[in-house]
Formats: sequence, C-alpha cells, structure tokens
Amino acid sequence: MLPVVSARRDELRRDGAFTVTEREGRERTVEYARLLWERGLVAGSSGNISLRLANMLLVTPTLRSLRALEPTDIVRVSFDGMPVDSDRRPSSELPLHLAAYRARPETRCVIHTHPTFTIAWSKLGRLFPLETVGAAESLGSIAFTPYAKPGSLELADLCAAAFASGATTVVMERHGLSSLGSNLEEAFIRTDLAEQTAAIETHACVLRSAGARRGSRAGRLSDP
Ligand SMILES: [Zn+2]
Repeated sequence: MLPVVSARRDELRRDGAFTVTEREGRERTVEYARLLWERGLVAGSSGNISLRLANMLLVTPTLRSLRALEPTDIVRVSFDGMPVDSDRRPSSELPLHLAAYRARPETRCVIHTHPTFTIAWSKLGRLFPLETVGAAESLGSIAFTPYAKPGSLELADLCAAAFASGATTVVMERHGLSSLGSNLEEAFIRTDLAEQTAAIETHACVLRSAGARRGSRAGRLSDP
C-alpha cells in the first residue's frame, strides 16, 4: 500500500472553487503568522503556515521568524511541492503540509506550531486531557503521533494518517502541533484552543499537587 503522502496527487487539483486571491492570501498569511508569534505559539524561527489557493500553495519561508514577515516573503509552491519562486525556499515542513492536503482535500489551510504546554505534555508520551468545555465544544478531533524527525516523510505520513482518520489537530510527540482549517481563522482557533487546554491542564496538575501538599501539612499542624 502506498504511503498517504504519495497518494493521488491529482486530488489537490480537483476543487477550483477558491475566492481568495494570491495578494489577499499573502497578506492574511503574514497577519496570522504575526498572531501566532504574539500568542506565544511559536519561538525563534519555528512554526509555519500554508494556504491553499486554486492553483498553488502559499507557504511561509524557511529559517525566518513568523514575527515580522512581509507579504513578499511568502513562497509560492506547486501541488507537487516545487517552489515557483526560485529565490526563496519554503518551510522545511512542506512535506507535512502537502501530506495534510492530500489526506484531506477539503482543507484550505495548515498551521504548524511549537506551543510550550502542548509539547510538555507530549514529552509524557500522551495527549493532554480534553476535559474543558472549550476543548469539548470547539477543538474537534485531536490525535497524538509518535516522534519522527522534523521535516521527514515519516513525520508527514504519520500526520497524514491521523488526518485521514478524521483528526483536525495532531499533537506531534516532542515537537509540536498541526491544525487543519477551511480557512486561516479556523486553523488558528484550533491551534490556540489546543494550547490553552494544555496550559489549563498543566495548571490544574500544579494546583492539585500544591493542594495535596498543603492539605497534608495543615493536617500535621492541627495535630495536638
Ligand atoms: Zn516543527
């Protein structure tokens, strides 16, 4: 059986019903890139965004911070993964983005980030608990994938398999988070909400632990 990443490249060319122009796509990608930075969802030059237009992908460039990109920095890439602009290189996670679109052809946007609390939970080899109202109502289906080298086809295939199984957000062990959307806003909300959920669960663990310690100490102090 062919890996998901190499399956049916023509899937991406079927849907021509796109309304976002390339200029608008570049401007919105830069806007959301800055938002990811401001929300602390990426650090250094980590994180990347792709937006699917009718006949190409727009992808953030490699080795650049998402903090201060210009619309002209965004790289045009064909659905076969070839940069259209020879003077710029797309994110090294391009295989992940291509695999996501092939696994879920209805997808218009992929956001990949390195959020602190999400990654901390992933180091335990598991997904953070999904027990908040926000997670239950808005996060959608979320999956966990084991570690694979960043930028590798193995990582792309692991994520694509999770997306093909219905996940809209994937936590990648010791690495980060990838979310799909029908537009930038939807993928951003899933990303932001996943990290907030991971942060809440982390704080809840700390409070439970502190409460337990204080309770046992109080118990000792009240002893005659
Ligand atoms: Zn990454």
